[in-house]
Amino acid sequence: MAKIVCVLYDDPVTGYPPNYARDDIPEITEYPDGQTAPTPSAIDFKPGALLGSVSGELGLRKFLEEAGHELVVTSDKDGANSTLDKELPDADIVISQPFWPAYMTAERIAKAKNLKMIVTAGIGSDHTDLQAAMDNNVTVAEVTFCNSISVAEHVVMMILSLVRNYIPSYQWVVKGGWNIADCVERSYDLEGMHVGTVAAGRIGLAVLRRLAPFDVKLHYTDKHRLPEDVEKELNLTFHPDVESMVKVCDVVTINCPLHPETEHLFDDAMIGKMKRGSYLINTARGKICDRDAVVRALESGQLAGYAGDVWFPQPAPKDHPWRTMPHHGMTPHISGTSLSAQTRYAAGTREILEDFFAGKPIRDEYLIVEGGKLAGAGAHSYTAGDATKGSEEAAKYRKAG
Ligand code: NDP
Repeated sequence: MAKIVCVLYDDPVTGYPPNYARDDIPEITEYPDGQTAPTPSAIDFKPGALLGSVSGELGLRKFLEEAGHELVVTSDKDGANSTLDKELPDADIVISQPFWPAYMTAERIAKAKNLKMIVTAGIGSDHTDLQAAMDNNVTVAEVTFCNSISVAEHVVMMILSLVRNYIPSYQWVVKGGWNIADCVERSYDLEGMHVGTVAAGRIGLAVLRRLAPFDVKLHYTDKHRLPEDVEKELNLTFHPDVESMVKVCDVVTINCPLHPETEHLFDDAMIGKMKRGSYLINTARGKICDRDAVVRALESGQLAGYAGDVWFPQPAPKDHPWRTMPHHGMTPHISGTSLSAQTRYAAGTREILEDFFAGKPIRDEYLIVEGGKLAGAGAHSYTAGDATKGSEEAAKYRKAG
């Protein structure tokens, strides 16, 4: 029987919700590329429930305990003596979500002598030291595609919010003002602008598709080129590298994974190559951008706005400069954890666990590391090495109260 340690974010400050704003959510059975949504044998939750916080338990307790396994759920994941650290030595499986990541460093993996699998309930396994997982023969799996469309919707929202200056305008209303000139002195139309995505994978391509009706000029760069018919359909301009794309774009959205190749890709030099007054939207991973370079660019006017929901570390300390920098539209890491997305990744996590316990192969598209090497989706999108670290930084959030 296995011990499963599941790290989830805290319940709402008002307590676990007794009811919800809506009574149902649309049922999604297939993704745009034909991949089927998760297919566990059953689920023990109502679609649309809050599953990603501690009391939601990803809907896993009944299933795991009936099969005789032990489930430990905690939000206490960072700093010395965290519950995660205490539970690790005899844990077989660790589950966490990128929104509130259990930073599975080489030290933690070394300490977890029984560890067989790390599951990302979501997409993006950069919070696990993939090199250490490979070296210790630990399987890493994530729920590919579960929230890619959720994020694409968030990206479109953030692009429009920045370009049209939505957030400051909303704030004028709340403050009781009618300050039209104050609202519009930084407000533009998106129509006609050049918008480019770094990576046109599941999220990047969905962003391009959603933006096409806005009559913008679309650009992308990626390690692999999209099929010709897609390029034609969306009238895409392909760039062989990030530098050549950012030079011509008014809006840049980042949609690649964080791995050694993309860490700090957007530093002073790269941001300096962008058009003055560009907007940068990063819902991929905080560390793809150099934290202080972003602040400097907003202060100097090189960037007209920066938005996203990914930070480093997570949770971000209270004094993280992205909370207070000018012209930003940051949220906590929420784009991929809408109630709609939670339904899919909770079901996907259960599917992965069911296959694992039954000794059946985990879907190839869910695999990041298996048998000591990058596998499945991981072999396609990641590079070997480590871009983790962060537990010590993240501990500052709790300490600062
Ligand atoms: P995909 O694997 O479908 O797409 C990733 C794309 O990035 C692939 O097309 C890949 O190229 C490309 N890529 C990898 N490295 C580079 C590079 N150095 N330069 C250019 N392109 C590169 O994943 P998704 O689109 O579903 O997700 C992308 C990322 O978004 C995740 O890894 C995660 O970090 C983040 N994410 C954020 C969420 C949130 O809540 N904010 C939720 C979900 C994901 P190729 O495959 O052609 O080799």
